[in-house]
Amino acid sequence: MLSKILIANRGEIAVRIIRACRDLHIQSVAIYSRADRDSMHVKMADESYEISDDPLRGYLDADLIVEAAIKMGADAIHPGYGFLSENAAFARKVQEAKLIWIGPNADVITKMGDKNQARSIMQQNGIPIVPGTEPLNHLSMEKIAKIAQKIGYPVILKASAGGGGRGIRVVTQEQDLEENFNACKREAMAFFKNDDVFMEKYISNPRHIEFQILADNYGNVIHLMERDCSIQRRHQKLIEIAPSPLISEDLRRRMGATAVAAAKAVHYTNAGTVEFLLDDYNRFYFMEMNTRIQVEHGITEEITGLDLIGRQIRIASGEILDLTQNDIRTQGYAIEARINAEDVNNDFVPNPGKVTTYYPALGPFVRVDSCIYKDYVIPPFYDSMVAKLIVRASSYDLAVNKLDRALQEFTIRGVKTTIPFLRNICEDKDFRRGDFDTSFLETKMDSLISEDSKNTDDMVVAIAAAIASRCGE
Ligand code: ADP
Ligand code: ADP
Ligand code: MG
Repeated sequence: MLSKILIANRGEIAVRIIRACRDLHIQSVAIYSRADRDSMHVKMADESYEISDDPLRGYLDADLIVEAAIKMGADAIHPGYGFLSENAAFARKVQEAKLIWIGPNADVITKMGDKNQARSIMQQNGIPIVPGTEPLNHLSMEKIAKIAQKIGYPVILKASAGGGGRGIRVVTQEQDLEENFNACKREAMAFFKNDDVFMEKYISNPRHIEFQILADNYGNVIHLMERDCSIQRRHQKLIEIAPSPLISEDLRRRMGATAVAAAKAVHYTNAGTVEFLLDDYNRFYFMEMNTRIQVEHGITEEITGLDLIGRQIRIASGEILDLTQNDIRTQGYAIEARINAEDVNNDFVPNPGKVTTYYPALGPFVRVDSCIYKDYVIPPFYDSMVAKLIVRASSYDLAVNKLDRALQEFTIRGVKTTIPFLRNICEDKDFRRGDFDTSFLETKMDSLISEDSKNTDDMVVAIAAAIASRCGE
């Protein structure tokens, strides 16, 4: 077993990994930028190391991180999500320094990190992919337009190296193609230093269904059922549900088997996620594989009772998987809502600043993975997600009720958050019926933003006041 893990991340995921380390009696080392010196992960880790006075450089510089790990006597590195978590060069450097990388090996990251390469590997292995092309950069605009016509509008342009919803453009008509293609290339270069852009058929009104994979170093691969991540804003997930309230047992079995086959095709190890689009006719298509732990792993933990970060660590340290597919049983439904410090009424712009009141929701089957506390000043340099609220109940319906109740209780003051907006989603009839696809948020945005935001705010304030008085504040 490992003895000391350096966590190459920040925020709630760093806190989550520290907790897993502590549960396994493993020492944890936090790295932090100067802007993060008061952050929760620094306070919670056994040891901490200021890696840079620049807010971002330290979390993105592979050499600095490996050097820190050696200096601090760590024997492994956990990359979390975002930052360098899907960077094959970083994984390789970690392994070359004789440290253990808690994730799949660098070659697998290379294969799956590039959406195009992943698509062609999947196709070779008989796994259905969304109809589409290879990178189009070398072709003339005329040729690209012909291809789009052949695929049929709408089409979607994607950065091969993309992630986090960035470098994606939907094009509905030929006259918008050139402008979008160029914009997509620019965004791809800016974010991913690689401007390869390819095209896919835009599947109309699909559901985003992804399967959690767990694989050990000895060829044992299982899946831990699916998550429905169709509630998205600008291709980024806001609410996730496990299992999907809509898919049948038969479809689940077929998609799960396909996800396992996809992982086996690249000799995948550790935790990973196979993402699919599911169309109106229950046809499913491989979209991409995320070679890291995901933001929404907590809902899978809640329905399966398995600690995914703990499993990642145990697999990386060489343990054989002591579970077979038949051992995986789920209980009830879990829902996660991402609480972001953002101004919903101002195009969701980040709203960093000082947290003056913080009261996370509590009660049975309510879990909060967070990185903020009262008087913490949320720095402006990072992702705006500050907490994940996760609830579980015996049915989807009851889980929505519980999420709504927990959101009512959850009180953050000092910065604007997505809490009132998330409550409006909970009250939406289609959401309650489980009747939604990836167009849900964009279609309903206006009413979800305006609908009683003020009212819910008042309710939050009233509850906060009641709680504060009970707590003798
Ligand atoms: P998940 O796929 O785990 O549900 P997201 O796609 O929302 O989550 O991404 C998780 C986090 O990682 C977000 O903060 C996002 O901005 C960031 N992220 C994801 N992929 C990349 C990438 N390739 N490069 C940089 N940041 C990324
Ligand atoms: P990222 O790496 O940024 O997560 P994905 O390829 O996973 O990018 O796509 C993100 C989201 O964009 C999906 O969850 C889905 O909502 C939408 N999307 C991607 N490809 C298609 C497609 N071919 N048709 C319709 N929607 C798509
Ligand atoms: Mg994705």
